[in-house]
Amino acid sequence: MNLTPSTHTVLYAALKKYFGYSSFRAYQEEIIDAVLSGRDVLVLMPTGGGKSICYQLPALLLPGITIVVSPLISLMKDQVEALRANGIPAASLNSMNDDTTNAQIKRACIAGKIKLLYISPEKLISEIHFLLRDLEISLFAIDEAHCISQWGHDFRPEYATLHILRQEFPTVPIIALTATADKITREDILKLLALQQPLLFISSFDRPNLSLQVKRGYRQKEKIQAILHFIGSRRNQSGIIYCMSRNGTEKVATLLAKQGIRVGVYHAGLSPQQRDLVQEEFITDRTQIICATIAFGMGIDKSNVRWVIHYNLPKSLENYYQEIGRAGRDGMAGDTLLFYSLSDLVMLSKMNEESKQRNINDEKLRRMQQYAEADICRRRILLSYFGEAVEKDCGNCDVCKHPPQRFDGTIIVQKALSAMVRAEEKIGATLTIDILKGYLSPEVRERQYQMLKTFGVGR
Ligand code: ADP
Ligand code: ZN
Repeated sequence: MNLTPSTHTVLYAALKKYFGYSSFRAYQEEIIDAVLSGRDVLVLMPTGGGKSICYQLPALLLPGITIVVSPLISLMKDQVEALRANGIPAASLNSMNDDTTNAQIKRACIAGKIKLLYISPEKLISEIHFLLRDLEISLFAIDEAHCISQWGHDFRPEYATLHILRQEFPTVPIIALTATADKITREDILKLLALQQPLLFISSFDRPNLSLQVKRGYRQKEKIQAILHFIGSRRNQSGIIYCMSRNGTEKVATLLAKQGIRVGVYHAGLSPQQRDLVQEEFITDRTQIICATIAFGMGIDKSNVRWVIHYNLPKSLENYYQEIGRAGRDGMAGDTLLFYSLSDLVMLSKMNEESKQRNINDEKLRRMQQYAEADICRRRILLSYFGEAVEKDCGNCDVCKHPPQRFDGTIIVQKALSAMVRAEEKIGATLTIDILKGYLSPEVRERQYQMLKTFGVGR
């Protein structure tokens, strides 16, 4: 962007005046400049990156009103309160307000007294004629824009109707914002909102301080042993163990508690009071470890979580990345460990069969599996899934630290295949190995496989 010195000064002055900050974070200034110049914009920024200012500041500098579409009424309320506390005229139209309040807000909007109007998507559609006729709209901001995509993990049918914005308001710029950034979701947002020559701003989603590790094919007992070993070298460090089921959380917690570890469980089966208590004990470091289902972690702000273990395979890379992202928020090293087993994969596939979006969920699971089975830098896979091209291996994942040994296996494979053909393709893996190794197992004897030409060629 070519910011003229004067825009630059105006933006900094407004940032200071309305928000009290003296500098912009990465991309904020460029985004704001693009919005002010009337461009459609898509912003992909991790949670906490500072997306709100990217439309709030333009709203204050543009004439007329900015309409902010947001999916959650509670979130809307928080935002509006925070803005009002800063002296910014903001309001929200939603179904939780009574009719009088909504009518008052509409009058204030028409009178030009509101700069930022937050609105739920369904309200936006039902109010579209009021908006079209009576307001001078300078900007639409679509928060949590991934909700428009069926591929995204948070699809909301009401968001699908937002395509009418472009039809009804062809000249009003749109800024779409999200923290969920994989390529398909991104393309869906661009397409469904019909953004015109949009400028894309993608903040890095990389969390280089998180180490990545996958352990494959462990049985339950082995997992517990590995976990005890892992915890043993991390005394008193806070950590989270994610399990697929409630039952799983309780089992793991019981085993750890037996070793004298301060551990709590968290899942949807607990009462809200119990959950608050568990969370509180964890935040205040009275509990060292939480065994949790995915219900845990939303909205918890604990910066010194040092590690995250996935006892089971998560159902998608979005889930996985969000969950490991709870480690190392303070920027210090955080370690992550994922246990990957075929039985989890089978279980998750079965769950997908019953889900509404089976194809999408199967595809997500496939990507998760590819990650877990990868023999190239795991961070490259993750970041590429989220649309970031990475030039170099990270040096902080198990594959980088212990690169797989490669060798030319042509001859060995030929021998194995030959053994299978000679046994008329009636043998499984174990028997094939016995034949190749020249092991006279009872089965080999019984079927006379020691007579095969390939017997013992793999000794
Ligand atoms: P997001 O919507 O991307 O999750 P927010 O817009 O809520 O993030 O911003 C996260 C936090 O960062 C907020 O507390 C916000 O006030 C703060 N913040 C945003 N921009 C700046 C800035 N330029 N300087 C300092 N703090 C900022
Ligand atoms: Zn790596």
